[in-house]
Formats: sequence, structure tokens, C-alpha cells
Amino acid sequence: MKAAVLYKPGKPLVLEERNIPKIEKGEALVRVVRTCLCGTDLKIWDGTINTPLPLVPGHEVAGKIVDAVPANDHEKEIIETIKKEYNENVLIYMYIGCNQCYYCRSGEKQLCPRVKRIGFDVDGGFAEYIKVPIINLVPLPNSLDYDAAILADAGETVYRAFKKMPQRPGATIVIMGTGGLGSFAILLAKLLGYQVVTIDVIDEKLLYAKELGSDYIFKAQDKENAVVLADEILRTIGERVYAFIDFVGNAYSQEVAMNVLDKKGYILQIGYSSKETYNRISIQKLVWNEYNILGSVGGSINDLYEVINLVSKRKIKLPVSKIFKLDEINIALQTLKEGKALGRICVSPE
Ligand SMILES: [Zn+2]
Ligand SMILES: [Zn+2]
Repeated sequence: MKAAVLYKPGKPLVLEERNIPKIEKGEALVRVVRTCLCGTDLKIWDGTINTPLPLVPGHEVAGKIVDAVPANDHEKEIIETIKKEYNENVLIYMYIGCNQCYYCRSGEKQLCPRVKRIGFDVDGGFAEYIKVPIINLVPLPNSLDYDAAILADAGETVYRAFKKMPQRPGATIVIMGTGGLGSFAILLAKLLGYQVVTIDVIDEKLLYAKELGSDYIFKAQDKENAVVLADEILRTIGERVYAFIDFVGNAYSQEVAMNVLDKKGYILQIGYSSKETYNRISIQKLVWNEYNILGSVGGSINDLYEVINLVSKRKIKLPVSKIFKLDEINIALQTLKEGKALGRICVSPE
């Protein structure tokens, strides 16, 4: 099979012929149909996130089951159901937990201290085939196409973050940064009844945000500083904002957030850079305004099931703008790195 392999951080992925992975008890072999690119893939690519090498990255994967070796009745049932009712189509839940710790027992494997992530710690979806634990297979409803691959990370991550705040339909929320996650956040926010303000630095992304339903768009780099931008936002919308969903995570975004939030408002921190710290958060403002600052990472398999259900029931058109061939993986990564990807871009081995 063809696979795109990272040997050295910062160097192009190498396309090579490999043996199709051999599956063991409890595992399934999935033929990859679509794998989408995440900002985190850039961090894996440049070595900001440490991974064992060589590695096949790719963690937003949709495909078809071709083989499985169930270890028990439960796994047998999973495979039979997906074959019979879902035409063999699956999404892959990316977190492989130890299945022993508190977080695994309570269904939040993304928080497991011994977690292995598909496409980070074990080979992922930039290949023709991938092997995964059967319990990581999630049926893909027939009403959805393979663009639903983005739900396996972007979708579940945004959905989980939104669940952390009490919903206040009609209020205003700010989406800071419109990559794949931010784009999905705009769709989800509109669905939940919010007025949406989007901030980005790239004109094309702001226009795309408008297409996705954002009510207001603001360009960050036009402004001398974050306070000026915050003032302009407040003047334009005429009210303070309930939640600031931060997909960027730097001093600038913190400062905008602290200057637009309403009392009892939420900052949902999803984007991050490993070097940035919270140095623009006024503790006095935090206390006097009863702000809630919450971090959120990934999602549980239940979050994934729920977001799939929501997208399929409400017929949300997913923000996938371009599908490259697997052979073009390095062009796709470069496109993402240069900020030229609208919403999500993906690769397909077919
Ligand atoms: Zn990701
Ligand atoms: Zn665990």
C-alpha cells in the first residue's frame, strides 16, 4: 500500500510502498477514503509535537472496514452492525486509552495519561490502509459523505468545548481564528442560535466565514492593538459578548477577549501555542466580572457520536474546501501552513 511517512521533522513526507498492516485480535483494517489535515499535523510535521519516527500522520479519518478480528461478542456486534447497517463505512475515534484509569473508565480517553493518539503515537490515515482497535470504530451514517472525516477531530473538539458552557441562544459569541475548527464552530454556533463575530488575519478566510454564516467579520491585523479591535467590535454590535472561542491562543487573542466579554462570560481555550502563557488576563477583571476560562481538548467517543448525530439530523454542510490526492500530501501540508486552506482540506488515496 501507499503511505506518506514522516522521517525527519520539517522534511517532506516520503511516499512509499509498505505492506498492508497485519491486524491482531481486537483490531480492524480500514481502507482509508478520506483523511483531513489539522493544524496539529503542522506541529507534528515541524517537530513542535514530539512523536516517534518514522510515523504516518493523519488523525481525521473516514473509510471502509475491510477486515476485523473481534476479540469478544461486543466487538463482533460492532463489526456486524457496521457491515449490515452502515455499508462498512466508519469514522475512526483517534484516542486509544489504557482502559484502566479514571478517565478511560469514565469515557474520556483523550485525558488518559497513557493515551495513544492515532496519527501521533501510532500510524495514522495518510495511507491507503490503517489498522485500529475495533472499539475505536464509529459508524458513519448513510446520510453523510466522507467529508464527515472532519468530525473525528474538528467536529468532536468544537462540540465538546461548546458543551462546557450553559447555552444562551440569541447572545453573541466571538470565534477567534477560522481554520477547520473555527469554521465548524461558526456552523455550530449558528445552529445553536448565536450571533457570531469572526476574527481572522486573512481576507479570504473572513469571506469564507461570512459564507458559513458569520454575522460580523473583523480583520485582526488591521488594528494597532487588541484594545482598538475590541472597541470596534463592541461599537459595531452594540453589546458585550457571552463567549470568546479562542482557536489561536496568544496574548493578542487574550487581550481582545478580556475587552469584549460580558459579565459571567466564557473564554473557551482550544487553540494554543506551546510557548504562550496567560499573561494578558487581568485577575481583577476575572474576579469582578466572574469570567470563566476553560481549556478543552479533543472529545470523548460519545462526543463524536453526538456530533455525528447532530450533523446528520440537521443536514449541516461541512466546511471541506478541497480534496487533494494522497500523492499531493506535501502540497496540502504547505497550503495549510501558508494559511491558504479554507475550512478543512483533506487527502484521498483514491
Ligand atoms: Zn487535530
Ligand atoms: Zn486510561
